[in-house]
Amino acid sequence: MKMCCRVSRNSTVGACLGFALGPRSPFREPQGSLPYGAPLSLRGLRANPQPPPCGILLLLALFFLSFPEPSLAVILRAVTHIHSKFSPTGEQSLEAIAERIRDKGIDVFIPTDTFLATWEYGLWPLRGLVRKKVVHPSVSVSGVDRYLSEIVDLRRKYPDLLVVPGMEVAPYYRWEGAPWKKLTLVDWHRHFLILGLERPEDYKQLPVMGNPGGGSWNFGILWPAWFFVCAIVSYFIKRKRWCFGLAVIGIIFFLGGRPYHRIPESSYLPETPWKPYQRVIDYVNTRGGLVFWAHPETQNWNRGQEVADGVFLRTPPYPEAILETADSHGFGVFFEGMNKVAVPGGYWDQTLEEYCRGERRSAYWGIAELDYRKPMRGLDVDTTQIVLEAEDRTPAAVVKSLREGRFYTIRPAVPMLLSKWNLTAGDSSGTLLVELEVGHQDGRPRRARVEIVRSGQVILRESVHLPHRWFFKDLQSEGRCRSYRASLQDQDGGWLYTNPLFWMARR
Ligand SMILES: [Zn+2]
Repeated sequence: MKMCCRVSRNSTVGACLGFALGPRSPFREPQGSLPYGAPLSLRGLRANPQPPPCGILLLLALFFLSFPEPSLAVILRAVTHIHSKFSPTGEQSLEAIAERIRDKGIDVFIPTDTFLATWEYGLWPLRGLVRKKVVHPSVSVSGVDRYLSEIVDLRRKYPDLLVVPGMEVAPYYRWEGAPWKKLTLVDWHRHFLILGLERPEDYKQLPVMGNPGGGSWNFGILWPAWFFVCAIVSYFIKRKRWCFGLAVIGIIFFLGGRPYHRIPESSYLPETPWKPYQRVIDYVNTRGGLVFWAHPETQNWNRGQEVADGVFLRTPPYPEAILETADSHGFGVFFEGMNKVAVPGGYWDQTLEEYCRGERRSAYWGIAELDYRKPMRGLDVDTTQIVLEAEDRTPAAVVKSLREGRFYTIRPAVPMLLSKWNLTAGDSSGTLLVELEVGHQDGRPRRARVEIVRSGQVILRESVHLPHRWFFKDLQSEGRCRSYRASLQDQDGGWLYTNPLFWMARR
């Protein structure tokens, strides 16, 4: 499986001369540049690269010697966005799920139980005093230490299964309406999947709404101190009754300002701000974890579900989240909806263009997620999978591959296998050779529709029988940076999404 632009020993000489990889690539940047000006010519071309001049051969020989190709030999199947009994509606223990995953032949289990599902509504002006709090089961309630120690136990009990800790997190929610009419909890389902953090304190200090260990001290609560000042003045001017009354009012308002340690944004704002989400992304990055937007397009919570008498829960789809925030590692390619993010020219491609223009520090990757709680029709622990290329069979290597986008996602009926996904330089005329090879695990031929998207534009769309190999020249001449990605859908409802490859011209 080749999933990056790089020099390969068995590839044609000339490959990668003039390429520069994205900042997440572990490969050193090759030297040279490609000329521009060639017309676009793509579909159906299956040209062999031109033999390079001897000088280039010599340069490339030196290049091979200078930058030996790292051995990335282990292919692993991973599954994530899986809930156990630690979550509000999870029905199985972590151990039962691990056993099921291992029996399905999956290599990597990334559980993502709900970090916190506690909602609080308070009446103005004493929201911290006159309030109703609803607490659902969550990792925070059961104990982060217990959750992580169960993961350690799984590693001991199932040594052939790699277990990477993860958590699903809701950074923010807000209230609409009022208790005496319709009260709606909005946007609580805007979730992140946080992967790869191993230390309990990394979770305990997550800056999310309702987490007493996260956030900061809210100094706005000190305003009732004025009542105490007035009470002291009243005492000295012999107005002892006033003094007592003002002190009581001060205490009431002080208690009404709870919680004192929290994120700065109130849960009574008219619109959902993006700041709480960006804060969590930044926090996870500083701790060395990975953060992916979960189910940005699912419609499940759009209509509003009644969760108590007159209290509704509603989260409209939020695909724009990946444009509005920066530095997360990607998003879930969720089978319940992919209408705006992963379509050609959609939000994913727009962020890749921003990355190409240097407006983003990192590119987004698409991961396969499940939102599994128990086996049900059309959903099991292996319904969507991440197939990744890792340096070795360790949780750290899995996290590294996910960070670098060295994976593709599939929804298997019979799983598709990506055996080649390459960009290489063809000759000195500015061409790029695009190579894609896909088949099915059982080797039987099946019909599939393929789409290859270059910088938001479809450059190849056709129906073929798999296994199939596409190998063609792309003579695109515009732009100093291009992204390429591919997707396939087969006749049995299976799909495959590759992550983007980048070509960047040297200045
Ligand atoms: Zn969720």
